Amino acid sequence: MSHSATIQCPSCRRLFVPDMRSPEMPFCSLRCKMADLNRWFQEDVGLPINCSDPEDEDEAPPPSAPREWKFE
Ligand SMILES: [Zn+2]
Repeated sequence: MSHSATIQCPSCRRLFVPDMRSPEMPFCSLRCKMADLNRWFQEDVGLPINCSDPEDEDEAPPPSAPREWKFE
């Protein structure tokens, strides 16, 4: 039985018992959290800005005509 499941810290690869209430989750410590965040930012900055987001230029379908609204 393993009542204390360990997870691997994404930053330092250390196995640790996670504390679900910890704001550092899923990192083992705040240091690792910040380290990973920094790494992420640096990688993000290094990436070329590639706006390959295809814009949906679909013409909006005409609003379905309401069936003879009768306000009487
Ligand atoms: Zn760690």
